[in-house]
Amino acid sequence: MTLAQRPYNFSAGPATLPEAVLQQAAAEMLDWQGSGMGVMEMSHRGREFMAIAQAAESDLRDLLAVPANFRILFMQGGGLAENAIVPLNLSRGGAVDVVVSGAWSHKSAQEARRYADVAVAASNEADGHTSLPAPASWRLRQGVSYVHLCSNETIHGVEYGALPDLAALGCDAPLVVDCSSHILSRAIDWSRVGLAFAGAQKNIGPAGLTLVIVRDDLLGQALAICPSAFDYKTVADNASMFNTPPTYAIYIAGLVFKWLKAQGGVAAIEACNIAKAELLYHYLDGSGFYQNRVAPEGRSRMNVPFFLRDESLNEAFLAGAGQHRLLQLKGHKSVGGMRASIYNAMPLAGVQSLVDYLKDFALRHG
Ligand SMILES: *Cc1c(COP(=O)(O)O)cnc(C)c1O
Repeated sequence: MTLAQRPYNFSAGPATLPEAVLQQAAAEMLDWQGSGMGVMEMSHRGREFMAIAQAAESDLRDLLAVPANFRILFMQGGGLAENAIVPLNLSRGGAVDVVVSGAWSHKSAQEARRYADVAVAASNEADGHTSLPAPASWRLRQGVSYVHLCSNETIHGVEYGALPDLAALGCDAPLVVDCSSHILSRAIDWSRVGLAFAGAQKNIGPAGLTLVIVRDDLLGQALAICPSAFDYKTVADNASMFNTPPTYAIYIAGLVFKWLKAQGGVAAIEACNIAKAELLYHYLDGSGFYQNRVAPEGRSRMNVPFFLRDESLNEAFLAGAGQHRLLQLKGHKSVGGMRASIYNAMPLAGVQSLVDYLKDFALRHG
């Protein structure tokens, strides 16, 4: 199948996928590699799908340099389910500290309160989630079961470049990281992490798959009320096949991992992500017509919320974007304005095309 060039899609999630991946999935839809079956039609315990799942797991382990003492789990329920599944598994009925850096970590704190004694260690709510709560300012309690951080706030566009070293802050609890919207966009320092989770639909593949990467000493502590299918130890002991995993989403994720390797891996895609983000922020900051309100040190490379200084032009801006084949730029309803999500699968040419449109629109309306 040959397609005219597809529009550039800036959706925050479910988000754009590499075209090569979609083409391969289309070609294999009816018959995966001569098996006579499409991937959706295979038993998850059959030889074919087991090979697909194992390749996906080992490619992910390579890409993110996941150490041998971490288990990779393919789960379901998305980031929001993990907000409950994490405390069910790791809180041990005790205390949990949460850093609130945007809407998603705010939700994580709310949900964890159902299972644990939760305190907010730091919050940027007062400035509308536009700053980065610096680790040195966090008020961490002694003896907490874990500390929760959202390392990239998808709605507010706030990102931690480096993960905090909790030990250096005098805290020996494991760090739990919600990295849903920037996983695989940069390296992860596993020496600082106890557990990382990510819904797949931002930077990996289809909705329905949730990745959990967990240090093995944290397994086996789930509360008695934790559903068996959400007990990390049960999932790990059954190689993510305690119940039927989201097989097609795992297959697509596996194709994305192969695509990433072909791009040169995480270091290469990170360099591309830096170039894309610099191009866009540099233009926005210099324009006088548009504005990003996040403090420079906290700006996300993946999600770029921005505002037209004259918001009465919002509708015209979005209509014109559609005509220029630039899709899904409307900001989250809680923030307003616009948002460009520029995940791994967005090429530099897509961001260039957006900047060209931004310039053109500003010229015509400035
Ligand atoms: C999208 C997102 C979530 C929620 O994911 P669901 O799959 O809708 O549950 C959680 N955290 C972050 C950082 C996200 O970007």
